[in-house]
Parts: sequence; structure tokens; C-alpha cells
Amino acid sequence: MKVGVLALQGDFQEHAAVLRRLGVEVVEVRQPEDMEGVGGLIIPGGESTTITRLLHRYGLVIPLRERIRQGMPVLGTCAGMIVLAKEARGLDREGLEVMDIVVQRNAFGRQIDSFEADIPIPALGGDPFHAVFIRAPIIEEVQAPGEALATLEDGTVVAAREGNMLVLAFHPELTADTRMHTYFLELVRTAAAETGLKEPSKK
Ligand code: GLN
Repeated sequence: MKVGVLALQGDFQEHAAVLRRLGVEVVEVRQPEDMEGVGGLIIPGGESTTITRLLHRYGLVIPLRERIRQGMPVLGTCAGMIVLAKEARGLDREGLEVMDIVVQRNAFGRQIDSFEADIPIPALGGDPFHAVFIRAPIIEEVQAPGEALATLEDGTVVAAREGNMLVLAFHPELTADTRMHTYFLELVRTAAAETGLKEPSKK
């Protein structure tokens, strides 16, 4: 039982490093064959325009859509969230369009391209999460049964979940706090147990 990290562009290595630190076997996914035996997928931050272009070029759009619709857990961070959204404002091409959210690219404008904030995430429990935002998108709408998991102080939604799909406008792979990845791995373990596969391997 392995966890994939989409490795076409962006900060996939940082995600892979966190997963390895958590004792998970990581597969860098660049083509459909790489998805064999993979029980969950992380789509990293980067440039959503580039990632979607490469998804089409390497024939990954249809296989990934199918796996996600069948219930494979997926975590999209920043650009990865844009790629998963059914409606992505400011994206000039078709992404995976699997999650019922409306997102807006580069929503914070130039003056605060990047910032950090401690945000409460009740689903994680404990202390607020130190969230790093880099030219980040926001979530403008979440359709039920999907739900917001975190908001900024002004109410802007920056994390959401719809069943097996988890999206974050920020970058948990850039801080030492592994709670978000652990939360995702819980979804992967649950999905694996439901489909009778083995648990993600522990070192
Ligand atoms: N601005 C990027 C985009 O629209 C996302 C930035 C990021 O992933 N850090 O794709």
C-alpha cells in the first residue's frame, strides 16, 4: 500500500519528504502506470496552468478522475486545489474538475502575494495550524456534502473536504507540523480498509 505524489511540477519533493518522515512508501506519479497499487494521491502546489497542461500531455486526466470518483483519497494543496476544483476562476484550461468547489486563483493580489497565519482547524484538534500562503487561491463556494475545514479571520475559506477529497489553499509541507498529512493518511487507511487493501506500510 503506497501513497502517490503527483510529480509533474511544483513542490512534490517536500510532500514526499513529509510522507517518508511519517513512515509511508512514496511513489512519484508522472504517468498512468505509476498509479498502480497507489492508495492515495497528493497534488502539490506549483503552477496550476503548468500542472493541468502536463496532466493532459501525459494522459493522466481520465485515469485520475476515475480513481478519485471511485473513492481514492486525494489531497490538493494550493495549485493542487485549483486542479481538483469543478470551477477554477482564472484557470485557462480544464483541470480534473472532481470536487464541488469554486476557487479563485491568486486571490490575495500582489501586495500580499505571500503571508503566514495561525488558523484554527477544528478537524485537527489542538493548537491552530501555522499556514503558509504563497500566491494562494481561495475557496469561494463549497457545495454540500462538502464542508469548509478552515477559514481566515475574515471568513475566507482556505480548506475544505468533500468525502475522499481534501483541499488546502496553504502549504502544510513547508512547516514541521505534520497533522494535516496525518489527517490525510487516516483517510487513505480508512479507504484501504474499506477496499480490503493493506495499510500504508510503516517503517
Ligand atoms: N498561484 C499558483 C496557481 O495559480 C498557485 C501557487 C501555489 O501553488 N503556491 O497555480
